[in-house]
Amino acid sequence: MHNTRMKSRSNPNEMPARHTVPLADALARPLQDLRISLLDQCNFRCPYCMPEAKFHSEYEFLKRQQRLTYDEIIKVAAAASSLGVSKIRLTGGEPLLDKNICELIERIVTLPGVEDLAMTTNGMLLKSFADRLVAAGLHRVTVSLDSIDKDIFRNMSGGRGDLDQVLEGLKAAGDAGLGPIKINVVVQKGVNDHTILELLEHFRGTGTIVRLIEFMDVGNRNGWQMNQVVPSRELLEQIQKRWPLRAVGKNYPGEVARRYEYVDGAGEIGFISSVTEPFCGDCSRARLSADGMLYTCLFANQGTDLRESLRKGADDDEMQGILSSIWLQRADRYSELRHPDLAEHHVLKKVEMYRIGG
Ligand code: SF4
Repeated sequence: MHNTRMKSRSNPNEMPARHTVPLADALARPLQDLRISLLDQCNFRCPYCMPEAKFHSEYEFLKRQQRLTYDEIIKVAAAASSLGVSKIRLTGGEPLLDKNICELIERIVTLPGVEDLAMTTNGMLLKSFADRLVAAGLHRVTVSLDSIDKDIFRNMSGGRGDLDQVLEGLKAAGDAGLGPIKINVVVQKGVNDHTILELLEHFRGTGTIVRLIEFMDVGNRNGWQMNQVVPSRELLEQIQKRWPLRAVGKNYPGEVARRYEYVDGAGEIGFISSVTEPFCGDCSRARLSADGMLYTCLFANQGTDLRESLRKGADDDEMQGILSSIWLQRADRYSELRHPDLAEHHVLKKVEMYRIGG
């Protein structure tokens, strides 16, 4: 049992004592990853995340004062890293809409124990940011790119995405050293599944790693139906017929993707199969929304308001205590317990993906 008793510290600027072993939840899963959503706004309107009809020009997004300040984000990240978090991922909405993001990156990379700082972006603004992100200390990026077919890509981004601009962003990120770059592809039956081989062909031999993600019932408004899911094993069989693949091990415990490499040496791909092959058993991820709610599962229907404690003056020890008590009680395993019928009717009011960045 970890000693979460907070030691009083002579120097208040000193970081909270770092746990030598990551704090484990009620299912013995270590707290290793923190995903931080910087804002709820996005320059895309992907139908499975932020449909235009709902998120129209009059939609009221979080106001500046409702969002955590960088000082508040750092306080949460510092407490989390003291409890064992070594991987931090910046998300949104679209994180590059936050023009000062490099300032935050410079501060996060100095936190003790943060070994991996990544960002998930739709890539539209990546070209103009790539060099500055590297200079600020960002280690790597993941780009959401659902198709290499211009029209399908445009449709899946709600008519807002420009494929050429995203591909230029990818090139700039690669040239700047933000690799290995990963591409996240949400595969939807009858929407983009027929363009997956074309996309894989495009990235074979480039060093870019494509992750094929089963369409998930995230949030409450993407109209998810089980019959829209392309099981990863079916996709794997289809790809194997074109290019032989062999399975390779995980890079680290808790890694969500099942990794494969092309036998002919053309690189790596991965499958994230939350629906047909759930991986809750070693899920080590916590998620912080832009307005300071901490969620312990992508499909959570409730979170903990950290902003209130922060704005009431919670110090590092108190924040460490709050995070500890949340994680110690954590027992989420939604994907293992998912009931497709209930999921299709969105019975559970789950947090929206655009608020926690997937
Ligand atoms: S469903 Fe929740 S607990 Fe399971 S892997 Fe996803 S985020 Fe983790």
